[in-house]
Amino acid sequence: MSSGKIFVTKSSMPSYEEYIEAIKPLWNSHWLTNMGIYHQQLENELKKYLDVPEISLMVNGHMALELAIQSFGFPVGSEVITTPFTFISTTHAIVRNGLSPVFCDVKESDGTIDENKIESLITEKTVAILPVHVYGNVCNVEEIQRIADKYCLKVIYDAAHAFGVRYKGVGIGCYGDAAIFSFHATKVFNTIEGGAVTFNERKMYDRLYNLKNFGIRGEEIVVEVGANAKMNEFSAIMGLCNLKNIESEICRRKQVSLYYQEYLSSIKGIRYLKGDVNATYNYAYMPIVITEEYGVSRDELYEVLKESGIYARKYFYPLTSDQACFKNKYKDVTLSNARKLSNRVLTLPLYSDLPIEDVNRILNIIGEKKQI
Ligand SMILES: *Cc1c(COP(=O)(O)O)cnc(C)c1O
Repeated sequence: MSSGKIFVTKSSMPSYEEYIEAIKPLWNSHWLTNMGIYHQQLENELKKYLDVPEISLMVNGHMALELAIQSFGFPVGSEVITTPFTFISTTHAIVRNGLSPVFCDVKESDGTIDENKIESLITEKTVAILPVHVYGNVCNVEEIQRIADKYCLKVIYDAAHAFGVRYKGVGIGCYGDAAIFSFHATKVFNTIEGGAVTFNERKMYDRLYNLKNFGIRGEEIVVEVGANAKMNEFSAIMGLCNLKNIESEICRRKQVSLYYQEYLSSIKGIRYLKGDVNATYNYAYMPIVITEEYGVSRDELYEVLKESGIYARKYFYPLTSDQACFKNKYKDVTLSNARKLSNRVLTLPLYSDLPIEDVNRILNIIGEKKQI
């Protein structure tokens, strides 16, 4: 199998038999969605696993973010300080709420928002900070909270990459006013499509419930304008099955990741993005930074790998602020670190059952290229 194509990720799934067995009760109940028992069960189990006080399941991570932002009721045209070094969803969610993203530079060391550059971007229109725990690397949550408290801003974390991560022993979803997770097929934990908002205050549960279920509160009662962003029962069951295997899933990712690191550390010109020592890591991605010393550019290495059937990805290039739909529309701030990182980062294939022969194939190419 090691001569086949290798993609950057591969969705984790329970065995066919396990899933089929688990969904059987749906053929008796015919209850397929609308906050069924599996939806409730998954909320309870994730609350424990993520170590958060409150959680609301959503149809996907993007809607989790859109509705989390909407739940605060910011005035249209307000500014949200955020990072351009992320998946496009983060910026879309801000703009689709009628708000203006103000892009802040990131730190070259780990790709998260540079907390030292946030304060200078705050204006009288600023209402929130929306950082991303990119690759599962934890932002400087303490400093960000200090700034938010000083200026009375909300903090909403895009924790789409940070499933199961803890910082100083606390679930990462406890930080800020809200955090969102993605359970998309390509993420560490999946419900096929799915996501969640985590938060500390119970009243936010009711608000999000309205927003994800048309504002319906009774057969004849609609209390506010809402969308439809409910997670269905098939997805919830996929989540319950995948959650059973999550520890071994992350453990195997760790093994593959450490194997990569051991070899790559001997190649000059390749650097990793180091996470905070106070945080756990979920091995969601295998990003490497190709520096000048390597002698071959990131784009060249990407092409060479591709020619060999290895589909590494340039996560995150281009910056979201450089995409046609956002370019030149928002405040122009210096994004030198973000740009540098975006031009040099390459995310290598990583998933729990990636065979070591395949990792060797990838490493050989990276090693050989260096010698040319
Ligand atoms: C995956 C992802 C999202 C969106 O999640 P979906 O479940 O795909 O809608 C949002 N932000 C980031 C950083 C992501 O990687």
